[in-house]
Amino acid sequence: MMIESQPAQTIWQEFLDAAQPNLSKHVLETWLRPVHCSGAADGVVTLEVRDRFFRDWLNDHYADFIHDGLSRRMGHAVAIEWVINPDLRLPAPTVMADEESSLSQTAARAPVPAAAGPYLNRRYLFESFVCGPSNQFAVAAAKAVADKPGKAYNPLFLFGRVGLGKTHLLCAIGHEVLRTRADARVIYTSSEQFTNEVVNAVLSNKLEALHRKYRDNCEVLLIDDIQLIAGKERTQHEFFHIFNTLYDSHRQIVVTSDKLPHEIPDIEERLRNRFQFGLIADIQAPEVETRVAILRRKALDEAVDLPDDVAFFLAENVRSNVRELEGALVRVVAHASLTGSPLTVDYARQVLGDLLNVSAQRLSVESVQRMVADYFSLRVTDLKSHRRHKTLVRPRQVAMYLARKHVGASYPDLGTRFGDKDHTTIMSACKKIDGLLKSDGELRSQVADLERKLDVLP
Ligand code: ADP
Ligand code: MG
Repeated sequence: MMIESQPAQTIWQEFLDAAQPNLSKHVLETWLRPVHCSGAADGVVTLEVRDRFFRDWLNDHYADFIHDGLSRRMGHAVAIEWVINPDLRLPAPTVMADEESSLSQTAARAPVPAAAGPYLNRRYLFESFVCGPSNQFAVAAAKAVADKPGKAYNPLFLFGRVGLGKTHLLCAIGHEVLRTRADARVIYTSSEQFTNEVVNAVLSNKLEALHRKYRDNCEVLLIDDIQLIAGKERTQHEFFHIFNTLYDSHRQIVVTSDKLPHEIPDIEERLRNRFQFGLIADIQAPEVETRVAILRRKALDEAVDLPDDVAFFLAENVRSNVRELEGALVRVVAHASLTGSPLTVDYARQVLGDLLNVSAQRLSVESVQRMVADYFSLRVTDLKSHRRHKTLVRPRQVAMYLARKHVGASYPDLGTRFGDKDHTTIMSACKKIDGLLKSDGELRSQVADLERKLDVLP
């Protein structure tokens, strides 16, 4: 028998079983159980984790342990390949593994089948989602949909940058529907999974069965990362068909995407129209208060005593992505508990050293200025000038606002870099934009556009 032909996840499972007596329950559950082994061939074992903090932590503390254990398990020395997979889900009960199984049958802690499809992550509930101005619209829409599937908004298109909680909200809808009615037929899948299903159905001549599955067994269809359907003609074609069948019989469809419908390239026009026809709810990057609330919530869940100043320090320094924020917290807490140090701001700064440098390098006032100038078809010198023409004033204020918010430079510093202006000019620009954002829809979407672009700046 070739050991390597075994499902990879079984190898990891057996490794964990053997290692269990030597590990604390905490380490096992928090760090090792969530690892997904996705391949073992040619002496290389591939381990997937959801972010780099996880990988780094395991590497720092358990590299040899994992290497030796897996080598023993495989009967020869192996190399470990780490893969970051942000969508990795924790083992959780299957919601609809193909046709029959319902949540009640596959009670919590059911073993994960080796070739399992996506699961509703059991931690992703409405209760564990912190609501703030940045996401309250999306949360309200998601709750309305979970409350009255097929009746409130259909389809619901949840849109937001990576790491802001789309998958969380999508799963929360699934859980909520199932909580109200345990036998509700909820299908949760990802674009990739759906594409695989279509490909397999085509290859094995079972398209009819695929259609039937969705037609007869799906009241709520949740598809994660629909933007990945771009360019896949056949998948789009089948999805369109399924979409229409469900839609016409008032079944709920919810999709998530990190692009707006009009930004998804290579997607059929009629599919784009369908998305645009429903409700588009966007999730913005959370404000600092919400980031602090998220940290407090996670600390509470993990029974960690998180001092306020440390929470604020993390929230101030890890801004654009909740996943990274969580990762930072996990990292600091893990280090502190391993070394027995008290959880202080200085300690957090020390542990997160490289991470903070990376995000500090990511944006400069100059890059914000360049981007805003480009966006409004102006020159950077226009933004720095003292001319008060109305085509210049607003973009200039927007640039000041974004530079303050995302680069975090001081008002006097910004004054200097915006053509030697007084710091009060910067302050009033920020205040002005802050105020207008509440009432001016066009400005809101311009700023949102710009913030999305900022996220991809080097
Ligand atoms: P996305 O799918 O948009 O990339 P996720 O849903 O995977 O993002 O969210 C990333 C992580 O951040 C998850 O662990 C999620 O629980 C957490 N998260 C995001 N937003 C919130 C929030 N408002 N409250 C609590 N946790 C959040
Ligand atoms: Mg996601």
